[in-house]
Amino acid sequence: MERGRAARLGVLASGGVCALLMVGVLLAQYILGTKRRTGRKTKIIEMMPEFQKKTVHVKDPKRVEEIICSLIKGGAAKLQIITDFDMTLSRFSHNGKRCPTCHNIIDNSKLIADDCRKKLYQLKETYYAIEIDPHLTIAEKYPYMVEWYAKSHTLLIEQRLQKDKLAEIVRDSDVMLKEGYENFFDKLHEHNIPVFIFSAGIGDILEEVIRQSGVYYPNVKVVSNFMDFDDNGVIKGFKGELIHVYNKHDGALKSTDYFKQLKDNSNIILLGDSLGDLSMADGVPNVESILKIGFLNDKVEELLEKYMDSYDIVLVKDETLDVANSILQKIL
Ligand code: C5P
Ligand code: MG
Repeated sequence: MERGRAARLGVLASGGVCALLMVGVLLAQYILGTKRRTGRKTKIIEMMPEFQKKTVHVKDPKRVEEIICSLIKGGAAKLQIITDFDMTLSRFSHNGKRCPTCHNIIDNSKLIADDCRKKLYQLKETYYAIEIDPHLTIAEKYPYMVEWYAKSHTLLIEQRLQKDKLAEIVRDSDVMLKEGYENFFDKLHEHNIPVFIFSAGIGDILEEVIRQSGVYYPNVKVVSNFMDFDDNGVIKGFKGELIHVYNKHDGALKSTDYFKQLKDNSNIILLGDSLGDLSMADGVPNVESILKIGFLNDKVEELLEKYMDSYDIVLVKDETLDVANSILQKIL
């Protein structure tokens, strides 16, 4: 009797172990399955080392994954690039020192008299603070930007800048393109991908920077503020309507002819550093997929959340084009 009970208990015990084992196996399968499933959702960016850096912030990885998949699917034939210039393609800082914008290249140059330089620096101090103020809306900043450009451009005209001196002042400046720029421009050139550089800087200076860097290829189009020179090559004003940091929407709509020619290039990679850059693709008639990559260089703590709400990928104090290049590598 005692032996029978023991045997029954033994059977029960081994049944319990079996049940436990089964539960364990099912649990392991579930966990592995879930992992595989989530893994599949962000397979591409999880496997890209450029995305693992602390400087990369993505609010919705699944969405970014979907956009990148769609860009890959569309390939070279559907792709176009729309990019800002200052502090996006050019560096914000190098070895702890601020790098110049197109305007600053002139401000800092020997072509500018010292008293004028002082005034330009004062304007920069006042208005740049407004440009990046986290507590003001774009609508509130807008009139101040118009004021800044009007005052600084008037000073440049008073200095009677000469066209034939621009190459030299760019050569003598501290401007630097972001690390990896050769790879970026070369690859886009090789695959004949249209690159639209849309800058509220100074077009003549911008063109000189990319020309001297050896990347002003025929697939690159520059839309910016270009100087107007008199017959003696002395500046007399600026051509066309002003493009400032927060009216790129209007400029974009004026470029509809360019974008119409590219009606099949419905996949876009947009690169910018300002919240104003988000409207650079507003002139594109048919957008299938758009990936917005934003460089956040200044007031990082205050602006990070806003940038993450607006840009798909936010790159904090990133002086490289590594993330963009890694995505291009997948597409092209
Ligand atoms: O190429 P992007 O559109 O970024 O060019 C605009 C940049 O020029 C802004 O970052 C702004 O701070 C800068 N700027 C300047 N001096 C001015 C006007 C604008 O450095 N007088
Ligand atoms: Mg910029």
